[in-house]
Amino acid sequence: MDSYSQKLIKILKLEAEDGHEDRAVIGGLARYADTWLHEAGMGLGQDAKGWVEDVAERLRQYSSLSSTQERHSALGELMGLLEQGPGSTDIPEAAAPEQGVAPAAEVSEEDTGQTMVQTAPSDGTDQMSAAPIAKEPPSVAPPSPAAPTPEPTTPAVPEDPPGLDAPITVVRGVGERQAGRLARLGIRTVRDLIMFIPRRYDDFSNLKPINRLEYGEDVTIIAQVVKANSHKTRRGRSIFKALLSDNTGTTEATWFNQPYLADRIRPGKQIVVSGTVDEYLGRLCFTSPEWETLQKELLHTGRLVAVYPLTRGLGARWLRGLAKRTVDYWAPRIPDHLSDVIRDQEGLVTLETALKQIHSPDNHEALAQARHRLAFDDMFIFQLGLLQQRQAWRSVRGRQLSIDDGTLQRFVLSLSFQLTSAQQRVLGQILDDIRSQYPMNRLLQGDVGSGKTVVAAAAMALTAAAGCQAAIMAPTEILAEQHYSTLSRLFTGMPDQQPVVRLLTGSITGAEREEIYAGLADGSIDIAVGTHALIQEGVDFHDLALVVIDEQHRFGVRQRAALREKGRKGDDARPTNPHLLVMTATPIPRSLQLTIWGHLDVSLIDEMPPGRQPVQTRVILPRERERAYTFLRTQIEAGHQAFIICPLVEESESIEAKAAVEEHKRLQSVFPDQRLGLLHGRMTSDEKDATMTAFVQGDLDILVATSVVEVGIDVPNATAMLIEGAERFGLSQLHQFRGRVGRGEHESYCILLSDTKSEASEERLRAVEETLDGFKLAEKDLEMRGPGDFFGTRQSGLPELKLASLGDTPLLELARREAQALFGVDPELSSPDHRLLARKLDEFWRGEGDPS
Ligand code: ADP
Ligand code: MG
Repeated sequence: MDSYSQKLIKILKLEAEDGHEDRAVIGGLARYADTWLHEAGMGLGQDAKGWVEDVAERLRQYSSLSSTQERHSALGELMGLLEQGPGSTDIPEAAAPEQGVAPAAEVSEEDTGQTMVQTAPSDGTDQMSAAPIAKEPPSVAPPSPAAPTPEPTTPAVPEDPPGLDAPITVVRGVGERQAGRLARLGIRTVRDLIMFIPRRYDDFSNLKPINRLEYGEDVTIIAQVVKANSHKTRRGRSIFKALLSDNTGTTEATWFNQPYLADRIRPGKQIVVSGTVDEYLGRLCFTSPEWETLQKELLHTGRLVAVYPLTRGLGARWLRGLAKRTVDYWAPRIPDHLSDVIRDQEGLVTLETALKQIHSPDNHEALAQARHRLAFDDMFIFQLGLLQQRQAWRSVRGRQLSIDDGTLQRFVLSLSFQLTSAQQRVLGQILDDIRSQYPMNRLLQGDVGSGKTVVAAAAMALTAAAGCQAAIMAPTEILAEQHYSTLSRLFTGMPDQQPVVRLLTGSITGAEREEIYAGLADGSIDIAVGTHALIQEGVDFHDLALVVIDEQHRFGVRQRAALREKGRKGDDARPTNPHLLVMTATPIPRSLQLTIWGHLDVSLIDEMPPGRQPVQTRVILPRERERAYTFLRTQIEAGHQAFIICPLVEESESIEAKAAVEEHKRLQSVFPDQRLGLLHGRMTSDEKDATMTAFVQGDLDILVATSVVEVGIDVPNATAMLIEGAERFGLSQLHQFRGRVGRGEHESYCILLSDTKSEASEERLRAVEETLDGFKLAEKDLEMRGPGDFFGTRQSGLPELKLASLGDTPLLELARREAQALFGVDPELSSPDHRLLARKLDEFWRGEGDPS
């Protein structure tokens, strides 16, 4: 037996005698795994690789076994493995017929004998003489036969090694069960694991004792749980509190709506808690901090430790080890898709460095550089995609419509009001676009109620008058219907050239649907108003020249493209694109205009129609709820209507629906004399419609709704809105809600109910109270919550940015500059040097449809 094995066996025996407490070596057996890999891996050579790694993996796992029983048998197995020696585990694998990894020479060596030391390194370089290279333990199992990995021989055109996309089970130590758990975190392939970015880092070199905590600082403490208890509030929220102590003092941590914590944070347990120090009733405390079970060896590392999102059944330490090994092996093998030129110019670290440092940073500085590089990648590729979209869009001709000024005049005069000057300006921009030879690609922004629909209606009527068709797509049936009736009403004033408008939604079926399809196809319908039903297969337009999309951020790129596609005309050689106008009431901060809508021209309606009453907004505490109810009652008694928005329940739409049903029931007893309707996301669209219609017609006094329901409707008689749990909504969302009242000439009110104890939340709510400017709120929202929340996660149709923040304007501008420079030289990314980048671009936008 070799000396490394003998040494390890000694250690294992000691461990067994010592009562399986993992104290035989400093830092535990898991830590010894690296020493073992280093020593045995170097001494034993290639053909023992699998065996050495297997031993190492078992050492790592040993430390995470919790019972003596398990540890006992693990030791037994380990000793058996060591006694058998190398070759015992490797042969079946290495002998597998299509083993694509091991170069032929290596396999035959394996076959001919057990000679360990003189094995030549497989890639022919002089590895043995270079200790740092030889030391590198390729402790990730070779990729499975299905995914052969050629050694990176630096081909002329760099390619990602195919093994990167092999299923995660090729990594040693990951079996089917672990793979299933990893999949819950979105990790299915080796690449996924490498790109699995830590959620945060614990800085164990900078821990604080409890008696030195200061309000507002971000800290990590290590403490013992002294006492823990959970209880429910009257409204059914669960609250879990733990009293924590170290030898300097005690503090309390509170978590909301995580009742399962009671099983995990038990008295006596040592835990690590990280978060911002909060204050409650004069005492310092933590509110919903991050936490994990203390792993003693972290204390000794004295460095930044990556903390990954976890899922049941996966230990933090196990995942950390797995990520580190995998990244150490792969990072040097992944070619960098950024050229030296760009890296040098922008002072970016290499991909290899970035990947290694993001998973196990040497220090804060190295971590910051790694994040910066990876964030740049995201942003850069994002910008390239946008530039390509814009180019693709403009490379196709537009429909040059002849808009007749007389018709424009007649439309404007037929309105019962005067267009505001902002509306006139924007309409002018739109008309310039649709008269030009380029297809319009314009974003129309304007606060709720600023009169966007009217402007779009004008453009559509003029398109119809020019002999073409127009379509407007809204995200929900209710909104589509509202647009339909708005348009129908607006057009009644223009008797001689009144366009034919029809509504097409999912609930229009059978003969009526057929009739609409026919009308769209033969051109007898001028304007189609609808939902996704408009982009179904089977919908054919005779000559669709203008496409309007309402509430832009709710549609993905693919859906937009689908509607646009319906308007593509001409033969393949000379196609034309329809004009596209996207409307959003969510004010878009400047930084986002550069990004998500970087390929669009932007118009802004920054003026409200005259005579609007500003909505009076008040933030109140839960104990004032009764007064708020009384206030709603007086509004209703005065003949008006009200909204009550239910608090946000994050778990799922079905839980939210259930909570809403209960809240509705409860409220019915609060308002016994009023007629209450309920709207939630689990209702069918027929049910929703029926409720909405009843509210619009005044058959209901109060509409109780969850946030998942789009209440983007126009009910001028609604004058009051009560929003429960206001602190849990984004500012832009609150502003949208508020926009539902104050639509008529009556004084209107918005009451925000919040029991927030956090200063930041309070500040945000004060902002809603103080300003009616949607832009200011949007900026604030973005600054405080980040773009994910700003748009509502998946709804945005945005490709996922892992590290880049859309609010990071300097990075954004940097990436945009580089993307433009590159795009200027090679817009198709067709040069061999850019092939890898082209691939990245494809992956990034995949699932978002054809960006053109
Ligand atoms: P948005 O789509 O931007 O939310 P709408 O176009 O639906 O706004 O307009 C909101 C309300 O204001 C509608 O009832 C509309 O008829 C009315 N409106 C629009 N423009 C004007 C204007 N210039 N003067 C008076 N009322 C207007
Ligand atoms: Mg609107």
